[in-house]
Amino acid sequence: MASITFQQVRRTYPGSTRPAVDDLDLVVEDGELMVLVGPSGCGKSTTLRMLAGLEEVDAGRILIGDRDVTNLPPKDRDIAMVFQNYALYPHMTVAENMGFALKLAGMDKAERAARVAAAAEMLDLTDYLERKPKALSGGQRQRVAMGRAIVRSPQVFCMDEPLSNLDAKMRVRTRSDIARLQAELGVTTLYVTHDQVEAMTMGDRVAVMKDGVLQQVGPPLDLYDRP
Ligand code: ADP
Ligand code: ADP
Repeated sequence: MASITFQQVRRTYPGSTRPAVDDLDLVVEDGELMVLVGPSGCGKSTTLRMLAGLEEVDAGRILIGDRDVTNLPPKDRDIAMVFQNYALYPHMTVAENMGFALKLAGMDKAERAARVAAAAEMLDLTDYLERKPKALSGGQRQRVAMGRAIVRSPQVFCMDEPLSNLDAKMRVRTRSDIARLQAELGVTTLYVTHDQVEAMTMGDRVAVMKDGVLQQVGPPLDLYDRP
């Protein structure tokens, strides 16, 4: 495990007059779940994508632990991403979806099967391993997406609005699944949402962003428990 550090990070998209993310200084502590919250367009996804190496950084540095990852390709960052649209492979079973990245990484079959089985157990997916994604509920699909992230034992989780395609009931259930899992695994997590309730209930700490600028960082109650 490791902390995440943004140091004076800035990103301006080509053709834009103002930075999408401006002079961002933020530390996510080792094992912490940090929720980055703010309205649509405030720079949350850009921040997450820079951390994952999917978006250029114009200025500043990003560290994982004491390792400067600013210029590393995504695959060398030891980060697992979970997106809102799950991005599961429709032709593969749940087990194959969860094991696929390990297979690509050259892990042998027995080790893969053990990791997939352990993740499925944690996520209550053991009975669904041979199903295709289309035969699952939205909440189950999102759990498969988490399983695919977990099996790699990454240092860092990035989650981008992982609940936004779920109905209200599944959102509540999946919210607690994610929080429980994150705490069990103790994996440092940056979790992006526009939903203040999610931020309130899930985050160890919450970072509030507006117009590309970090407004405040603190425990949920410090930020929201105000008149
Ligand atoms: P959020 O995730 O909070 O909705 P984003 O990080 O997606 O915000 O976007 C921040 C700002 O950058 C917005 O003004 C958005 O329009 C702009 N933006 C995002 N992606 C691109 C892009 N690929 N090219 C140009 N502008 C972009
Ligand atoms: P391969 O990909 O080597 O052809 P399989 O198709 O049997 O192997 O399995 C694909 C992936 O899913 C592998 O990572 C394997 O370990 C895992 N897997 C398949 N079935 C199960 C299962 N019932 N329980 C746990 N893991 C499984």
